[in-house]
Amino acid sequence: MFCCNMMDQNVYFADSPEKKRVFYIRRFDEYMLPCADGSGILISHCPWCGKKLPESKRMRWFDELDALGIEFSLFDTEQVPPQYLSDAWWNE
Ligand SMILES: [Zn+2]
Repeated sequence: MFCCNMMDQNVYFADSPEKKRVFYIRRFDEYMLPCADGSGILISHCPWCGKKLPESKRMRWFDELDALGIEFSLFDTEQVPPQYLSDAWWNE
């Protein structure tokens, strides 16, 4: 599913309880290195095979929700349409 076997074995979804080396945020199409404080550092290339990873869709995500006139905070996503809480909004 991901760029190489090493990424397949070392990536986890951000909402997964199982932690590995790199986490993936579906809604933003972002790959992050986890930090001790719980945040992450965005990476642009696979650490193992060197392939360029997709551009982050985070800004597009905020722009689209703005265009829909939806008010929300990252901690209160009740107003966010469900397709924007997964990769459904960009990955048909
Ligand atoms: Zn790779």
